[in-house]
Amino acid sequence: MKPEISIEMASRVKSLPPYLFATIDKMKQEAKAKGVDVIDMSIGDPDLPTPEHIVKAMKLAVEKPEHHRYPSYEGMLSFREAVSAWYKSRFSVELDPKTEVLSLIGSKEGIGHIPLAFVEPGDVVLVPSPGYPVYPVSTLFAGGESYIMPLTEDNHFLPDFSAIPEDVLKRARLMFINYPNNPTSACAPREFYEDVIRIALKYNIIVCHDAAYSEIYYDGKKPLSFMEIDGAKEVGIEFHSLSKTYNMTGWRIGFAVGNSKVIAGLGKIKSNLDSGVFQAVQEASIVALETDDKILSDIRNIYQERRDVLYSGLTGLGMIVTKPEASFYLWAKVPKGYDSASFVAHLLENAGVLGTPGNGFGAPGEGYIRFALTVSAERMKEAVERIRKIL
Ligand SMILES: *Cc1c(COP(=O)(O)O)cnc(C)c1O
Repeated sequence: MKPEISIEMASRVKSLPPYLFATIDKMKQEAKAKGVDVIDMSIGDPDLPTPEHIVKAMKLAVEKPEHHRYPSYEGMLSFREAVSAWYKSRFSVELDPKTEVLSLIGSKEGIGHIPLAFVEPGDVVLVPSPGYPVYPVSTLFAGGESYIMPLTEDNHFLPDFSAIPEDVLKRARLMFINYPNNPTSACAPREFYEDVIRIALKYNIIVCHDAAYSEIYYDGKKPLSFMEIDGAKEVGIEFHSLSKTYNMTGWRIGFAVGNSKVIAGLGKIKSNLDSGVFQAVQEASIVALETDDKILSDIRNIYQERRDVLYSGLTGLGMIVTKPEASFYLWAKVPKGYDSASFVAHLLENAGVLGTPGNGFGAPGEGYIRFALTVSAERMKEAVERIRKIL
């Protein structure tokens, strides 16, 4: 036998929880191998294509040799200007494209890197749970300690700041919040953001608001941007993404806006780790940000029809479901006699319907299942019929 070295993962990797969607994918593959026609509502990845005018802009942009070279890590000024113009027209928020806007290789990249800029080993990061798994993981990678803020139905899936001990708030450097929320689909009112700003100022906490779903909303009720609230720019930043709004998850582009010092800190990490977003993608994204609202409202109407089908279908079966005001998720209580994992397994094995177990987003998600509205209304009706037969 050849001599070999012993390969040990670093403790930060060993302490990672198993990646949620890897486990689900394995279950799905096993069901498919048995010949089950799986209706997959587990992953939040839009099934609709990127609008045609954006794809066209990309085709033109890719032909330009100047885009074939290294981009700048902070993004083309023209892209950052387009972001600033979009914030002005959508939220009436003024942003300096030079200092208050930063391009990202998807917002996941920025969320993954931000604690490296501001969190010292042992510092606390306030993390909502159930929530996007990257918040606690990026905290862990920076040596920080996640303090879980449970999102419960009783509190409209908003964190209860009065439940956080004073000494934790004093040690907190950073707070993640996310509305419209994944996975609960809740939106946050203005007063909530005002509370966030008050706490951030009192305890010196950097606020990172994840607004990936701000454009996927229903019944014409537009979600707020954190940046619209007086004082937000003094305490933090907002992460945004083209992924969900324009069905561009595969393109890898997002951005962060807000406090110039926080933006500069994140930029410092990025300039040492990556070399920015392919400029052709940035150029196509400028066109995306100028998309006619008719196209976006058509997309929203498709999700709204699906939401209505699934919401009324599951409620009709006696399930307790939160009606989404925004985002493309449906957060439902599992029926009596099940926990998250056993209900997900029951649905997959007996109905060929796949959802995500709520506890995969953190312990406070136990007792729930998340369905993504990323299959057609027809398939969704079929899913409801199949579930009817096994409940
Ligand atoms: C999808 C998602 C993102 C990441 O999107 P990118 O494709 O990386 O821009 C960020 N936050 C939440 C809550 C998401 O669901």
